Amino acid sequence: MKNTKIEWCDSTWNPVTGCYHGCEYCYARKIVKRFGGNDKLSTFRAFQCNWRRADGNKGLFYDEASREKPMLFVIDKPLFLPSRLDKQKTKKYGRQIFENKKAPYPFDFNPTFHRYRLDEPSRWTKPRTIFVCSMADLFGSWVPDSWIEEVFAACEKAPQHRYLFLTKNPQRYRELERALKLPKRDNMWYGSTLDNMNAQRYPGRPLYNTFVSIEPLLEYMDVGLGSFGADKWAIIGAETGNREGKVTPKKEWVDKICEAADLTHMAVFMKDSLIPIVGEGNMRREFPWGRMCLNE
Ligand code: SF4
Repeated sequence: MKNTKIEWCDSTWNPVTGCYHGCEYCYARKIVKRFGGNDKLSTFRAFQCNWRRADGNKGLFYDEASREKPMLFVIDKPLFLPSRLDKQKTKKYGRQIFENKKAPYPFDFNPTFHRYRLDEPSRWTKPRTIFVCSMADLFGSWVPDSWIEEVFAACEKAPQHRYLFLTKNPQRYRELERALKLPKRDNMWYGSTLDNMNAQRYPGRPLYNTFVSIEPLLEYMDVGLGSFGADKWAIIGAETGNREGKVTPKKEWVDKICEAADLTHMAVFMKDSLIPIVGEGNMRREFPWGRMCLNE
C-alpha cells in the first residue's frame, strides 16, 4: 500500500502539481525535470488537445513581460508522451510496436490541475495517510479557490483516509476559513512548511489539527512553534542530496525544536535524514493521532 519514500505518510496524491515558490533545494522540481521537461511541450502541442490554460488562453508559453501573471493549466484527461518504440514487444511480435506513456508533468513545473486524478482516493479502499500535493503548493497564492475546493470535495468523498496538507503560504488557510471553504474534520490536517525563522507566521489562533514541517532545517530556531500555526505535530528533517551550499543542521538545532514541541505537548517526527545528526537511539517517530507506525 505504501507508495512513497516519505516516512510520515502511506501515499502521496497529486491532483495538482507545480509551484512558484522557487526554493533552491526543491526536490519536486528535480523530479519534474527528470520526468517532464519543456522540450516535450512542442510535441504535445502537435498531438494533444485535451488541455487548456486555466485562464482560457490557449497560448503555451509565458510572455516574459507578464510573468507576474502565473500560467496555470487544467487537464481533464491524462496526457501521453509521444509514442516510442517498445523494443521488447517489437521483438516478441516481430513487427514494430509503439507505446504511449502517461506524462505525469506535461507542463513542467507550471501549476497544473490534473482533474482526472481526483477520484484516486475513492479507489483506495484500505485507509491510508495521504500527503496531498507533495509535488505542489496547493495553497500557493496563484492557485484558484476552485481547484482547492475540488480537492477538498474529493477528500470528503473518501473519508476512510487521513489527509495531510502542507503549504508555505499558511495565510491561505485563514482566508479559506474566513470564506467558510476550509473543512474542519478529524481526518484533515493542515501543515505549514518552513526552513528558517523568517518563514511566514500563521495569523491568529491555530486551526483544527495543525502541524509544522521543518524541512530542510537551515538554521537555529528559537521560537514557539505555535507562531507558525502548529498545535499537534512537528516533523523535522535535514536537507538531502548534494546541492552546492547544502546546510547540515546541528544537533542543538534539532534539540531546540524538540524542546519547543515538548513545551506544548506536540508529537515529534524525525525524518531518517536526521539519523547521522542525532543518532538512531535518539530518533523520535511520534504521530499526533496516537499511532507509533503507519500501515497498521
Ligand atoms: S514550496 Fe515545496 S514544491 Fe514549492 S518550490 Fe519550495 S520546495 Fe518546491
